[in-house]
Amino acid sequence: MKSVLPLFVFVDACGWEILRRDTFAHAVAPHRRRLRSVFGYSSACIPSILSGVWPSEHRNWCYFVYDPPRSPFRSLKPLQWLPRAVTSRRIFRRWLSKFVKMQLKFRGYFDLYNIPFRYISLFDFTEKKNPLQPGGLNRGPNIFDFLQDHGIAAHVSDPARSEEQNLTALMADVAQEEIDFAFLYWPALDGLMHRVGNDSAEVGQKLRGYERWLDQLLVHAQRHYSEIRLYVFSDHGMANCDELLDLRAQIDALGLTFGRDYVVVYDSTMARFWFFNDDARRLVTQALARVSQGRIMSDAELRDLGALFPDRYFGELIFLAHEGVLIVPSHMGERPLRGMHGYHPDAPHSYAALLSNRTDVPVGITAIPHIYQLMTRDAEIAHRANREPSPPRRPAATPPNRREPSAPLVT
Ligand SMILES: [Zn+2]
Repeated sequence: MKSVLPLFVFVDACGWEILRRDTFAHAVAPHRRRLRSVFGYSSACIPSILSGVWPSEHRNWCYFVYDPPRSPFRSLKPLQWLPRAVTSRRIFRRWLSKFVKMQLKFRGYFDLYNIPFRYISLFDFTEKKNPLQPGGLNRGPNIFDFLQDHGIAAHVSDPARSEEQNLTALMADVAQEEIDFAFLYWPALDGLMHRVGNDSAEVGQKLRGYERWLDQLLVHAQRHYSEIRLYVFSDHGMANCDELLDLRAQIDALGLTFGRDYVVVYDSTMARFWFFNDDARRLVTQALARVSQGRIMSDAELRDLGALFPDRYFGELIFLAHEGVLIVPSHMGERPLRGMHGYHPDAPHSYAALLSNRTDVPVGITAIPHIYQLMTRDAEIAHRANREPSPPRRPAATPPNRREPSAPLVT
């Protein structure tokens, strides 16, 4: 039996608005707090949680950037001659993404999404490493570097495994009683809500399933650690997409040439532009100003959100759709999705949540990068406590001359 286990359970997209109408995990983590998210997608939010800093510092923001000299995708260009009926199919793209990921030895999440093969050699992919590993961020350390540097034994989920497999793997490590910190990652709610939206009955069912897993995990953990410090948290929420915006059609109509006048990445809620002449910059800026379903983000605002990159690595001009507007078709997908995130962090459905069984979560914990402070604090507390001699297994004193009925062996 060990003393303390900090258990950080990351439920992707389990936002504050969803929890406002659901009692999710109330029995095990009754103390709830709304957290401000980070501007960007999970590709920005997760590295921010893991490092305690914002994207301008760790430089993990959006996946694709204009960077021809560093593009690893040149060999894919000939695929432009394949019929679109093949190359736009999700199943083909998924298969090819797996193949490319292996070839290029990318360690993080990788998807070619819907980037046209004609232009793919103009782009680089910015998450080549696995953020859930030491050295996994583009710049600076993350929690796994911290744990390694401090010699703190930890368990972390493997995104290549299923949610249930990751739960089982964690329970096995808990039973060994050798870890001082655990990070469990459950991403499936995010995928579900992209498909069905945030108000489908399936969302509640999924949350009930997570509750059963949490109960199992806690019962098991309590047999091996006397104190479980539980934190269930998310990176962002999910908004329903009720309006579609074909931004590409409006930009294409300007008569500019992609690759010569400008380049753009259409993310599902953002469009990021690079310009090669002043005319292109002016025409695109004017056209975007006429789009009522979104707006151009100012440098001051981007700086405030920790997403201003002075070298314009992720784009010279960032257009952001209003909450509930989905840019489609985009380089992320050909077809509409019911739910999306990646809107302004102050849009209602962007807010993330933190649920805990602890009452001592500092008041300063208000945004998702602050979870890093909780992780380092608790990992150190557990590491110290678990090195001390084990607490007695049965705290109740039994008179020496009275035999107790045999209790089941604690495993
Ligand atoms: Zn998502």
